[in-house]
Amino acid sequence: MIPRIYLSLAHMGGREQDFIKEAFDTHWVAPLGPNVDAFERSLSEYMGEGRHVVALSSGTAAIHLALIQLGVQSGDEVICQSFTFSASANPIVYQGATPIFVDSEPDTWNVDPTLLEEAIRDRLRRTGKKPKAIIAVHLYGIPAKMKEIAKIADAYEIPVVEDAAEALGSELNGRKCGALGEFGILSFNGNKIVTTSGGGALVCRTAEQAKRTLFLATQARDPAPHYQHSHIGYNYRMSNVCAGIGRGQMMVLDKHVVRRREIHRLYTEWLKDTPGITVMQSPHPNHYANCWLTCILVNPALAGRSREDIRLNMEARQIETRPLWKPMHRQPVFADAPAYTNGVSEHLFETGLCLPSGSGLTDEEIQRVLEVIINN
Ligand SMILES: *Cc1c(COP(=O)(O)O)cnc(C)c1O
Repeated sequence: MIPRIYLSLAHMGGREQDFIKEAFDTHWVAPLGPNVDAFERSLSEYMGEGRHVVALSSGTAAIHLALIQLGVQSGDEVICQSFTFSASANPIVYQGATPIFVDSEPDTWNVDPTLLEEAIRDRLRRTGKKPKAIIAVHLYGIPAKMKEIAKIADAYEIPVVEDAAEALGSELNGRKCGALGEFGILSFNGNKIVTTSGGGALVCRTAEQAKRTLFLATQARDPAPHYQHSHIGYNYRMSNVCAGIGRGQMMVLDKHVVRRREIHRLYTEWLKDTPGITVMQSPHPNHYANCWLTCILVNPALAGRSREDIRLNMEARQIETRPLWKPMHRQPVFADAPAYTNGVSEHLFETGLCLPSGSGLTDEEIQRVLEVIINN
């Protein structure tokens, strides 16, 4: 049996277990403690810009708490990039609000600024009400056109939530993705670039927002010796054990970004003469991508096979690949949500494939993947 190659495996740096052991030894097996504090500190330092980071149980929880703090409630509309993972959009519905999906532009695969403005104008015309927030995503770690997005958002005074779940370590003009919006969200799920086995974080612009996030994430307790509540709360805090893994992961984050970028470079180099295969590139060096996953587009007319042919060929050789995200406006669960589309995300979904990209991959494993694309 040949060993299976996975899309993106958790890759430990070595110190993670020390911090978990410390949590046990010091009896901090709880949803608070020194690992949580230290993990948050290192994330805040990493993000820069004076941001305050609160560690949570998931990236989805982080989006939810961002929307709550932006006042999203029943009857509101929230604009969301359609080309993304469903977790970007689900919290809109948790709040009883309606997602308004906006398609992508070809350069970054992220929300198209022109279409974004069209969508805002059309919502205003139809409902007389502005969308409450804009959720922009840095998909596959490629920074969205935040400057253009912010310009529109500012003109209509709509706050931007930056879904940087896939983009920890990515930068736009030297600034960290996740630190550019009113709120930024990070995910530490199993296959993300930093994992805590499961977890997330909300990146806040102000200390007050961070305080409010902490309050909401720990059941919204009023200051009293007994348990008293004046608000609905959530159980969204990260545990001190998980944060121990995160502390260890932060020590190797930059090294892992370098390796993922190297893997992307290897795929690009080796596939440059393969007809009908294009490796997704970030549009400009100012869009510094963490290369979380390397993606290819397959043109069947030139490649002589489809994306699905390649995926099945990989699978037969014990290599895990995955089609690109199916756009939200094509998901059965969001069939009734308004959408502003241009065909870009649908084309990407139909022709795109994510290749194994984990920082733990060896050059030999990458050659095994390339072999299937080039020779089969
Ligand atoms: C992973 C992911 C999330 C959600 O993060 P979880 O920690 O799994 O809840 C949100 N948005 C995008 C784009 C993601 O890839």
